[in-house]
Amino acid sequence: MEHQNAWLSYEKDDQEKLQVLCEKYKQYLDWGKTERECVRYTIRLAKEAGYRDIKEVIRNGEILEPGDRVYVVNMEKAVALFQIGRRGLEEGMNILGAHIDSPRIDVKQNPLYELDSFAYLDTHYYGGIKKYQWVTTPLAIHGTVVKKDGTAVKVCIGEQEEDPVFVITDILVHLSAMQMEKKASEVIEGEKLDLLIGNCPIPEEKEDAVKKNVLRLLEEAYGIEEADFYSAELEIVPAGKARDCGFDRSMILGYGQDDRICAFTSLEAMLAMQETDKTLCCLLVDKEEIGSVGATGMASRFFENAVAELVALTEGESELKVRRTLQNSRMLSSDVSAAYDPMFAEVFEKRSAAFFGRGMSFNKFTGSRGKNGSNDANAEFIADIRRIMDEAKTAYQFAELGRVDVGGGGTIAYLTANYGMEVIDSGVAVLNMHAPYEVSSKADIYEAVKGYRAFLKNA
Ligand code: MN
Ligand code: MN
Repeated sequence: MEHQNAWLSYEKDDQEKLQVLCEKYKQYLDWGKTERECVRYTIRLAKEAGYRDIKEVIRNGEILEPGDRVYVVNMEKAVALFQIGRRGLEEGMNILGAHIDSPRIDVKQNPLYELDSFAYLDTHYYGGIKKYQWVTTPLAIHGTVVKKDGTAVKVCIGEQEEDPVFVITDILVHLSAMQMEKKASEVIEGEKLDLLIGNCPIPEEKEDAVKKNVLRLLEEAYGIEEADFYSAELEIVPAGKARDCGFDRSMILGYGQDDRICAFTSLEAMLAMQETDKTLCCLLVDKEEIGSVGATGMASRFFENAVAELVALTEGESELKVRRTLQNSRMLSSDVSAAYDPMFAEVFEKRSAAFFGRGMSFNKFTGSRGKNGSNDANAEFIADIRRIMDEAKTAYQFAELGRVDVGGGGTIAYLTANYGMEVIDSGVAVLNMHAPYEVSSKADIYEAVKGYRAFLKNA
């Protein structure tokens, strides 16, 4: 079998479209560094493409017609877009799914303290991270503080040129003899991932003068007091924008590409769709990195409820029709895949690794230790996917996450598979997944959009 390098197939026109697309992608990363920001930005793009909030349709007592476009938001952290098809919903939808939460460091609920004239925010990391990667790098704080009266204060510090940034310190190499003997998992311990946020005391204060100064500044800038941290969701993420990577600008280096690279490419395909026979859906969910739990994760009933609303607004309320719609649907459940890294060749099995520049990556199964916890896509469905991708002249590859028994991972595919629908894991491969800055291939982004478009149109 020959594996084609997508770059070699591009005409000048492709090269230009690819660069334009990747500029949009970098903006999507910059504007959506948290799940809430990502939902807000997604809705902005959806509205520009003619999507309306389903609540508005319900409130007006309207019904939905073929070609209509609506979105359903879940607690500002997950969103589903639908484009109504000409055929009945019962015949199933073509669904693109991805997640929009990323590994990061969250601020605790009693976070603020002073130690030896330094003020810190205490943290608890979110998702699987190598803790030692998050020290000595500029960090920003993004999030929401909700005050007792219900007003929400949006926070975003560290992204503008003139903003201050924050940092988690590491010990200097000169005094690291003991640290260097430790295992990588213990080099930086979880409780030492606290964020350095101040060093200047209020002159007249005897105790906690630096902490009090920080509180004074927070009061001035945001009108918040210490107890407001109880009802805050503050996320610490790498500061700064996504960048082109390499002399040839063939790659992108940026935070949160797991899984906004799949969210963006799915959304991009969705927003450009003309009217189709089948109803289309783009589903972006939260909490994948900690097991898809909670009201905003894929394990919640949110999606099912959204489909029930859709059925009611098109053909009239029917529980059976909801079940048929879900069961007859087909889905590309997208998440990043591990790209082959020659520097760490030992953890890959080269025949089943995803390579940069070979396009979208499909995983028949994921899981670990004997495919445990995995969805396992049906051969019949995969055959049809191959037909669709080949007809669209899209580059794609079949891969697996690393060597057998080296590790593994899960996605949201097994959850939607519970409805009895055909679903396969797919997505874009990245280097150093879950690190503060991940690397992706522009060619793979370009091919993914082509692939998603073909799936929406022809599945
Ligand atoms: Mn992940
Ligand atoms: Mn992921």
